[in-house]
Amino acid sequence: MQALVLEKKGVLNLREIDLQQVVGPDDVRIAIHTVGVCGSDVHYYTHGAIGPFVLHEPMVLGHEAAGTIVETGSNVRGLALGDRVCMEPGIPDMSSRASKLGIYNVDPSVRFWATPPIHGVLTPFVVHPAAFTYRLPEAVSFAEGAMVEPFAIGMQAAARARIAPGDVAAVIGCGPIGIMVALAALAGGCSRVFISDFSVEKLAIAGRYPGIVPVNIAGQSFAEVLARETDGWGADIVFEASGSAKAYRGIFDLVRPGGAMVMVGLPVEPVELDVPGAISKEVRIETVFRYANIFDRALALIASGKVDLKPLITGTFDFADSIQAFERAAAAHPSDVKLQILMGSGAV
Ligand SMILES: [Zn+2]
Repeated sequence: MQALVLEKKGVLNLREIDLQQVVGPDDVRIAIHTVGVCGSDVHYYTHGAIGPFVLHEPMVLGHEAAGTIVETGSNVRGLALGDRVCMEPGIPDMSSRASKLGIYNVDPSVRFWATPPIHGVLTPFVVHPAAFTYRLPEAVSFAEGAMVEPFAIGMQAAARARIAPGDVAAVIGCGPIGIMVALAALAGGCSRVFISDFSVEKLAIAGRYPGIVPVNIAGQSFAEVLARETDGWGADIVFEASGSAKAYRGIFDLVRPGGAMVMVGLPVEPVELDVPGAISKEVRIETVFRYANIFDRALALIASGKVDLKPLITGTFDFADSIQAFERAAAAHPSDVKLQILMGSGAV
């Protein structure tokens, strides 16, 4: 089958590859329609590794996908041929201790698309467990369906934050995940979400959403802006979504006493943390790793119209041009949020 294969760091090929695609009794086979290009895919392309996950052999990229069911296993109920769906890219071991606890996102044996050595889905067909395949509501397009995966991270962050209605949130980093976090925080009950970055273009995109207040930290301090806007009290919740070690310097100046700090961005190295700063305000610290039990809620929110992800899709490429899509993503244009690739086989 044709697939976008990352041969090794910096080398992509659109070529034939032999992929195991046996439909088990609990599986479905999906004709892929749309695949989002994710920062992690791009990082494997440019660096060949993310932390402990190192590319040792060719791997198909892509994990943010939507498509159409073309085959169902004998045990599958609830999903039928022709259903438009999106998929959760991690397949946990359902008998693992983590899965039994409902925290399958941290199951050590999870098999996650496009995380070495597991192949991703930039290929016309994929076989996936029905339990991790979600029917798209009629109002949700394939493009939006392929946005559910990154949005689920924002939703997980909002859930971890335990937002109270009217909370003021601050998000550090206005990349795709920062924007997803801000949108999920608003949907979760925040009255205002301040989002910081150095990029004028990125902030302009986030600032188009009512309730999101962009703060350019090139010329001012985020802590000062938040203090001014909250009568010196601070944000109820601070989400770190940049993954930058520098973001942790002074981070507790942003949080109100008794507030929460939620770590979403994954730094590449260990980071220094101001423990006295956290303790003296009794800040609650939470971490976010992917998501669990979120996709159905994310789809419900998108279908309700409360969250509109469509403005974040800033470029679309044909499958035949997917190498260009990755080159474009690697160039990191500040006005690009999410690039997507159309497989062109959604209807089989
Ligand atoms: Zn992703």
